[in-house]
Amino acid sequence: MNAEKKVLICGGGIAGPACAYWLQKYGYIVVIAEKAASLRDGGQNVDVKGAGQRVIEEMGLAEIIEAKNTMEEGHKYLGADGRVIGVFPKGALGTLTRDFEILRGDLAQIFYDATHDRCEYRFNTAVAHLEDKEDCVSVTFDDGAVEEFEFVVCAEGIGSSTRQMVMAEHVRFRYLGAYMAYFNIPKHPGDDHWARVVHALGGTFLALRPGTDTETTALVTFLADDVGVTPNDPTSRKELLEKALTGRGAIADRVRADLDAVGDLYFGPMSQVEASRWSRGRVVLLGDAAYCPTPFTGSGTGLALVGAYILAGEVKDRRNLAEAFAAYERIVRPYVETAQKQLNPRIIRFLHVKTRLGVAIMHTIFRVLALDATQRLAKLAATKRDKKKPADDFLLPVYT
Ligand SMILES: Cc1cc2nc3c(=O)[nH]c(=O)nc-3n(C[C@H](O)[C@H](O)[C@H](O)COP(=O)(O)OP(=O)(O)OC[C@H]3O[C@@H](n4cnc5c(N)ncnc54)[C@H](O)[C@@H]3O)c2cc1C
Repeated sequence: MNAEKKVLICGGGIAGPACAYWLQKYGYIVVIAEKAASLRDGGQNVDVKGAGQRVIEEMGLAEIIEAKNTMEEGHKYLGADGRVIGVFPKGALGTLTRDFEILRGDLAQIFYDATHDRCEYRFNTAVAHLEDKEDCVSVTFDDGAVEEFEFVVCAEGIGSSTRQMVMAEHVRFRYLGAYMAYFNIPKHPGDDHWARVVHALGGTFLALRPGTDTETTALVTFLADDVGVTPNDPTSRKELLEKALTGRGAIADRVRADLDAVGDLYFGPMSQVEASRWSRGRVVLLGDAAYCPTPFTGSGTGLALVGAYILAGEVKDRRNLAEAFAAYERIVRPYVETAQKQLNPRIIRFLHVKTRLGVAIMHTIFRVLALDATQRLAKLAATKRDKKKPADDFLLPVYT
């Protein structure tokens, strides 16, 4: 069979290239089909900790990634007009800033660099049709080309179209009640190594964080009814964003004024993907396409890396694909479900206050939390709690 040991990975984000890394190491010929015209290097800081961090170490990329640390010093909690309400340096309780902060785009670039000379990347390419045959999958690409693969890994993120072709009836979206947008805006003279976080009126939440020498990263989330399908054209996405930023204070005004300069916009409903199965025949789901917890949990990238490592390891170690896919799902699913449970619509509503009273309450909470005395007490309680926790959040299997 000419498709043997030849794998198609759809999606060149984080999960796809990480899985490609392991599969090519185990002797597979890997083709990565990415819908975008080039590597999508957008996004804010992503937080990789625990088992995800250990996968990075196993890949030998820890040092390269450390070198790209954004050097964020902590976060300042601001009023919508820019006035400082509380300061949360790195290490403080309640701070956004983790030990290990890297821009999603830098991480995507590092994985691309680690794989592109050993795997074939095809940009501007998507799957149009799939036919699961007895001993291979026949894939028709959107340019009409037909090719056979031993199996297909679908790592196309939350909006995956290949997943919907293969197993739409097994996928449920759990909408959490808000929309989110991640994008980069031009850096202004006042943008330093501190993140800035704002609860604006009307259920809009903003975070500006250090990006590159020329750009600051922006996150805007806002409460909204689920409008169903995300508008596909960038103009209507920006219109929705503009609406969420209008009349929301000085920081929101600055972001709104910069919207015209925004290139790659990651925008959509804040939803979790709950798939009752992660594979069908020779097609297997990975990363956000299978189990998106939403970026708001800060776990999506770690789960993608752990899933990529285990999927590739199980495929290598088992003769039968169905067994390998089942083992991957059995090992990773409980870890995913714990991460997804961190968020629910109630928490999202609490974090997106609408009224002046709600904003005032939030300001009081963060003002008190930032006080030295509160920090000391909270740290004491956290140390006690951590002592009771198991040392490892997830035991990674070893594949040699
Ligand atoms: C531009 C961008 C910015 C992001 N910013 C953040 C952030 O700031 N913070 C955060 O926590 N998370 C962010 N995320 C999400 C985060 O990357 C994921 O939650 C996590 O890393 C899991 O990665 P993934 O590879 O499963 O999905 P993704 O990173 O979403 O990657 C999926 C990839 O598949 C491609 N794709 C989609 N459909 C098709 C198709 N039909 N055919 C081929 N390719 C397809 C997409 O273009 C994308 O490159 C961002 C994602 C993107 C794409």
